[in-house]
Amino acid sequence: MDKNTRICIIGGGPAGLSAGMYLEKKGYENYTILERNDRVGGKCWSPTYNGRRYEMGAIMGVPSYYAVHDVEEFCGITHDGPQLNRNYKNAAGQVIEPFARTLGNLIRNPWLLKMKKQLNVFGELLETKYKGYDVNGHRGVAEGRYEGFAVTPGREPVSGTNPNLKDLALPFSEFCKKNGVELIQKIWIGPFTSFGYGYFDEIPAGYVLKYLDFQTCMNFVKINLWTWKNGTQYIWEQLNDHLKNKARLNSTIEKVERRDGKVFVTVNGAVEEYDKIIVTAPLHIPGTRADGQKGMDEYFDVRDDEKELFSKIDYERYDVLAVETKPEHHPDISYYVFDNMVPEKLGHLMVYYRRWRDSVEQVITTYAQR
Ligand SMILES: Cc1cc2nc3c(=O)[nH]c(=O)nc-3n(C[C@H](O)[C@H](O)[C@H](O)COP(=O)(O)OP(=O)(O)OC[C@H]3O[C@@H](n4cnc5c(N)ncnc54)[C@H](O)[C@@H]3O)c2cc1C
Repeated sequence: MDKNTRICIIGGGPAGLSAGMYLEKKGYENYTILERNDRVGGKCWSPTYNGRRYEMGAIMGVPSYYAVHDVEEFCGITHDGPQLNRNYKNAAGQVIEPFARTLGNLIRNPWLLKMKKQLNVFGELLETKYKGYDVNGHRGVAEGRYEGFAVTPGREPVSGTNPNLKDLALPFSEFCKKNGVELIQKIWIGPFTSFGYGYFDEIPAGYVLKYLDFQTCMNFVKINLWTWKNGTQYIWEQLNDHLKNKARLNSTIEKVERRDGKVFVTVNGAVEEYDKIIVTAPLHIPGTRADGQKGMDEYFDVRDDEKELFSKIDYERYDVLAVETKPEHHPDISYYVFDNMVPEKLGHLMVYYRRWRDSVEQVITTYAQR
């Protein structure tokens, strides 16, 4: 592709800004990022309260997020935020320690050792029977093949055939049952369901393992997690500052038309011409949204097959509330509430996060699916 190709990127969230960075690294500098909001970062949103930044969107990263490594390196920043710590409570608010391998806990919960065994089996299965399960993008799994980029620092292109990959279309609970590793769901559910990604009886194994591949899930288990003092939004503010072409904020896209091998984008009333377009904004939003955000299918000249594909996108409504509590009621750390991670408890908070342990003048953020 000609290095002068004019590329339009819709969205100044992590995906859009990273696209700008990777294009620039490959020598494509003629790109434009259009962001509808008055800030970058998208769902990485870190508002300030009493002089400190809190998280109302993404909170943490893990060492296996290689793209975040690349961004940190590009900007000369690091993950310098408060250490994450958490414990568990039951629905009655009592602290529980479901995974502690104390003698008493092992006697009360004999499944703990079984779960450990199943975890080892699961790790092996993913490497062997499901080889290729973690290839970025999951292209081809429905036909029993994998093709894309390895989830390793080099992210080298990989491809192959593996008919077992078709199992990734099963709901995660069935996938685990089929492989005799039902108990590992107790480990995966914390960073999955409580983070708003849905229930294991509904979500295909492919989606669960795309985000929580074995290595990433183990980072959660070992609390090998990163945070940023100025919030996750800071990563993207920094990236935006370091890019040759900063995101154009407050860009309202009215229309996108593809014709004669070009792309015509009507933005804030004027038509701009590009050669290529990358869309990192929502492809489809069911119903109407209070903030006026539209899906791509509402302003783009989408084809019927694209429309049909996008209409299959499902959304989970996930609410984050920031609450002020009286200092004497502050939770000491963050808590997961497993009892609430079931469909019958929809709407109940599943996790809450205390970000700054050294201060009582703060807000606690709570997370619930609705
Ligand atoms: C509560 C919460 C907690 C999370 N916690 C974590 C976490 O701890 N760790 C983690 O790794 N991930 C976490 N995530 C997920 C993470 O935030 C997302 O994966 C990430 O933000 C996705 O980036 P994106 O660029 O694809 O999309 P977004 O972040 O959604 O960015 C899309 C951008 O496009 C813009 N846009 C939309 N429509 C238009 C339009 N028509 N024209 C122009 N611009 C448009 C939006 O304003 C936005 O800036 C969390 C998400 C939420 C909501």
